[in-house]
Amino acid sequence: MFVAKRKDGSFFSLLDWKNREDVERLTKGELFFCPACHRALQLKHGQVRKVHFAHMNDSCNASSESETLYHLEGKEKLYESLLHSHHTTTLEHYIPSTNQRADVYLETENRKYAFEFQCSTISKSEFNLRTKLYESSHIKPIWILGKEKLGNIEPQMKLSPFQWQFLQRHNAHSPPYILAFCPKSTLYYYLYPSFSFNTSSTYISSMTSKSWTEHPIMQNIQNASWKEHFLHYKKKWRYVYSLYKPHNLLRKYCYAKMNIPLSLFPAEIGLPVPSFYRLHTPVIEWQAWLYFDSIYHTPLHSIIHVPTVLRNFKRRIKGSQIAVRELPLVKVGSYEDAVVEYLDTLVSIGALKRETPVIYRKIKKELPFPSMEDVYKQDRIVLEYLLHLKQS
Ligand SMILES: [Zn+2]
Repeated sequence: MFVAKRKDGSFFSLLDWKNREDVERLTKGELFFCPACHRALQLKHGQVRKVHFAHMNDSCNASSESETLYHLEGKEKLYESLLHSHHTTTLEHYIPSTNQRADVYLETENRKYAFEFQCSTISKSEFNLRTKLYESSHIKPIWILGKEKLGNIEPQMKLSPFQWQFLQRHNAHSPPYILAFCPKSTLYYYLYPSFSFNTSSTYISSMTSKSWTEHPIMQNIQNASWKEHFLHYKKKWRYVYSLYKPHNLLRKYCYAKMNIPLSLFPAEIGLPVPSFYRLHTPVIEWQAWLYFDSIYHTPLHSIIHVPTVLRNFKRRIKGSQIAVRELPLVKVGSYEDAVVEYLDTLVSIGALKRETPVIYRKIKKELPFPSMEDVYKQDRIVLEYLLHLKQS
């Protein structure tokens, strides 16, 4: 920590004193206390770490972060960067009503923000709790991932469930992003996931900025750089992954009900949808369950009722065949958007027709038992057609 309370109740910030000797002279013999738990603090003058305050034991629960050098530096740089554009920025602001200490706090004319610079893994429940507590005090939490915790930013990345938690979306007009900050370069990183094949492969568009903005403008997210890779993955999924043990249930279901091997699933399964990030379950799998449950059996020219599709889907979530991603910072929409978008995508490729927002009609029969060669070809035709539609 950089900010402590003095005996007289005033605050003392180490960042006001750049010179180490000054700090030592000023603080000689003085007692400092934690603004949150009021316990005595130690002033630490580590050679490696910056001068900072620390609890005698590590048991203050106002902050979620253990204070590594990286975190201390990040907090300092973040504070300075925000102060540059907003003079109402405070460092380590304590909020008594929720017993939280925000790393950096900012009050603008119409909003309050708590910045949490997170460099260590915390549990999902703690993440959710801290988020809810801020929100209950009408403070908007801005969770920022330590860049170090993200590793190299590549066009294709494996995002962990912990990293996915940081996905934030503030309104329906802008796509969701993960925000990271690097104290060494003083850069903010905005990461926009553009498509995920599965939990280990997510395509990212990214940009950096010298300053923080709540509503960044990102261009060119929709370039489908993943197309060939995805077609290759889909092929491999048919050939190899469909035989894997975790797919036993889906494989049996597919064979028993539809009388086709899972490797020959219709090319209509495994299509990109804008809300793909809502599902933890890989795109081919969740769409296969949906397709087999709600579409495959529907006779040609019959109606597909959206509430029924959603009910079937919910049953799969309950049965753990499909996992929804918990995204506490995504404030618009739900996983149901992904379901409806999938139906709309089937409309785009001519498999369904949308009659009302809740009624679709099946207008094309799946190709009966095509060969592996035919089905690969079909995968490419369908995906290229879809991407072509998006461009025009
Ligand atoms: Zn404390």
